[in-house]
Amino acid sequence: MKRKLGLVYGGKSAEHEVSLSTAQAVTRAVDFDKYEVIPVYITYEGEWRKGEPLLAPVHSIDELRLQKDEEKPDSIHDFLNGDGLPDIVLPLLHGTNGEDGTVQGLFEVMNIPYAGNGVLSSSAGMDKVVMKQLFAQSGLKQVPYVHFLRNAWLEKREHLIEKMESELAYPMFVKPANLGSSVGISKATDRESLYAAVDTALKFDRKIIVEQGITAREVEVGVLGNDQPACSVLGEIKPVAAFYDYEAKYQDGNTELLIPAPVSEAVEKTLKSMAIEAYKVLDCAGLARADFFVTDNDEVLINEINTMPGFTPTSMFPLLWQHAGISYPELIEKLIGLGLERHEEKK
Ligand code: ADP
Ligand code: MG
Ligand code: MG
Repeated sequence: MKRKLGLVYGGKSAEHEVSLSTAQAVTRAVDFDKYEVIPVYITYEGEWRKGEPLLAPVHSIDELRLQKDEEKPDSIHDFLNGDGLPDIVLPLLHGTNGEDGTVQGLFEVMNIPYAGNGVLSSSAGMDKVVMKQLFAQSGLKQVPYVHFLRNAWLEKREHLIEKMESELAYPMFVKPANLGSSVGISKATDRESLYAAVDTALKFDRKIIVEQGITAREVEVGVLGNDQPACSVLGEIKPVAAFYDYEAKYQDGNTELLIPAPVSEAVEKTLKSMAIEAYKVLDCAGLARADFFVTDNDEVLINEINTMPGFTPTSMFPLLWQHAGISYPELIEKLIGLGLERHEEKK
């Protein structure tokens, strides 16, 4: 009997298209003799459709051969249960409504095993403010930051600008609290660009985080496992752009990845122990990628944890594991195994 493997992709998220590339790569890597793939596409509007296996690159949303509207299911449950519930689901979703615990909660309620992080780690990892507060509590070093909500900005922006300018120095990085893939992030170099950066970020979220900008190398580590997580080798990103923005991540192909990252043994040790600590404090499961800043004098600061890191075969996370001898299809198998293991443990 083949296992039913649900692949959920797309999503009501600014990172919709990134998810499509991931889904395509994963579909191609799945062993169709072993699994019956149930492709589930979530539209930009948040509607669930049964798709065809995504074996070729997707150039436009129209190309996704979707169920016709009249075949739309009455409920997500009926839909997923159409040919029997999946034995395991891979939520290949990035950003809001996918990487943030919402879809994970749905699978919990439906009692469907799924790969990757659970509700708590997904949601805590998606909110950069909550994540940083948890990191601070476990003594993980990070850049100073200020955060506020849209209504505070609308009411007293001068006061907030004053606070930022007294606690932080330019350049500052202004980010929507709940996103990824650098969407909505800008670098502010003076007061004028700070105003503009906050307005940009507010288009994506009601909660904003403004961080001290730092000149540093960016080094990342993959973490894999449930209660006994392990680290991959380290990888460094060398963006050609002003910072590692959306284009640099997914479009220009110019960003250089150095694997393994050339760092001292001491830095490697610090960074790996910080990665495990961060993984544990967020209660991560399955996988995560922990991202760090390493300064010229080898100070290590944690930037963030991504609970569903970029997962195409040319993304950092799979490449890091490939370096450790774990191929892309093997990595998918491991994640399925960890997801099933976690589901069993919860019983
Ligand atoms: P995302 O979750 O969208 O990846 P990040 O917080 O990682 O958001 O920011 C995206 C990129 O912006 C980083 O990879 C880095 O290049 C740059 N960046 C973010 N914060 C800072 C900072 N405080 N100082 C310097 N560069 C930063
Ligand atoms: Mg992120
Ligand atoms: Mg990042």
